[in-house]
Amino acid sequence: MYCKNCGKEIDNNAYVCPNCGVKVKDDLVEQRERQAASNLEADSGSKAGWGILSFFIPLVGLILFLMWKTDRPKTASVCGKCALAAVILEVVVVIIYVIIAVAVIGALV
Ligand SMILES: [Zn+2]
Repeated sequence: MYCKNCGKEIDNNAYVCPNCGVKVKDDLVEQRERQAASNLEADSGSKAGWGILSFFIPLVGLILFLMWKTDRPKTASVCGKCALAAVILEVVVVIIYVIIAVAVIGALV
């Protein structure tokens, strides 16, 4: 970034400009930035966890999706997608089993 006072290029994390000594980052702005970054990190971590849970127990994923649709739309969408993927996968597995069963019965008869 560039210093607002003298225009010299300075480090993004610099608190004061090394060239003119003017404060380049407001305390409050910095605090907000850190807060936002940590919130984002925590949210993406829990999203992955809920996604995995939804994949293994699609019904839970569906319930979480309906519960969080408005409050936590991003997490809800992850849960919904994982639950849907699991259901599709399970349907495919069942179809494969049925095909194998039919083939085996057909071979025996
Ligand atoms: Zn400066």
